[in-house]
Amino acid sequence: MSILVVGSVAFDTVKTPFGEVRDALGGSAAHFAVAASFFAPVRLVAVVGEDFTPAHRQPLLDRSIDLGGLTTATGRTFRWSGAYGDDLNSARTLDTQLNVFADFRPNVPEVWRDTPLLFLANIDPDLQWDVLHQVRGAKLVAADTMNYWIDGKPEALKKLLGRVDILLINDGEIRQLTGERNLVRAVSVVRRLGPPAVVVKRGEHGVLVFEGESAFALPAFPLASVIDPTGAGDAFAGGFLGYLASRGLDGERDLRTAAVVGSVMASYQVEDFSLDRLKRLTMPEIRERFSRFEDLTRFKTLS
Ligand code: AMP
Repeated sequence: MSILVVGSVAFDTVKTPFGEVRDALGGSAAHFAVAASFFAPVRLVAVVGEDFTPAHRQPLLDRSIDLGGLTTATGRTFRWSGAYGDDLNSARTLDTQLNVFADFRPNVPEVWRDTPLLFLANIDPDLQWDVLHQVRGAKLVAADTMNYWIDGKPEALKKLLGRVDILLINDGEIRQLTGERNLVRAVSVVRRLGPPAVVVKRGEHGVLVFEGESAFALPAFPLASVIDPTGAGDAFAGGFLGYLASRGLDGERDLRTAAVVGSVMASYQVEDFSLDRLKRLTMPEIRERFSRFEDLTRFKTLS
């Protein structure tokens, strides 16, 4: 089953305690698409500028991502610059240049409008709304966002949440969105706005998954070396929704296993800069880390 993603395709300049990259390929849609492509066919809707060369497209094409919705506009590609201190859990945004995204009006190809699974990756909520209305055939809609849009367009974001089935969001961002410090209460506030399921990403502390009466907590994979956390949230979403797409949407959806697959992809994403680790990732490595997660979370019943 295919997934359609709309989000940013970017040039990222990132500094971590372990090094620095300038104008490296990134963006929420790019990170998501590469991770999801291990599990399902991916269709990408975004815009880039004239500075985006065929060489920049290649890593996406190498993963068989369908770029039929990637428009080239006059101007420069979206640029984001961020830095991480010793606390690799949260990025400090140094600069955001929307560039070609400032006036982007997506036009989802007609043949893509019945894509069953839609991911509204982190981008302007008005744009997410626009795409949501074009993909009329979507059976499952998931979304992500970030502080930039919570600050800048809170009303558009809240309106969007009324149409979303699964919200994936950082702990800091759900606190900011709801004004609630307590995560359980913050999730209740968000669910009243719309999404029946909420996944709270907590960086090195793992994830919380809330759906119906059920809550599920999963640790992050314990890594001895984290090089660059950029894209971890998008890689998580790629694994999470890629897994759901690979299982089909007819039966009961298994958000717990999806969260493990998402965590596996995020754990690889942070091992190198940009898309470098996922570019050389293999399916056997994904399976191997998945089974390490089973070990990590197995325990006996209290007798
Ligand atoms: P994350 O998974 O949260 O680490 O997402 C990192 C990606 O988000 C980077 O590759 C950035 O290019 C992208 N990004 C940063 N700020 C924004 C923004 N305001 N809108 C859309 N994408 C962004």
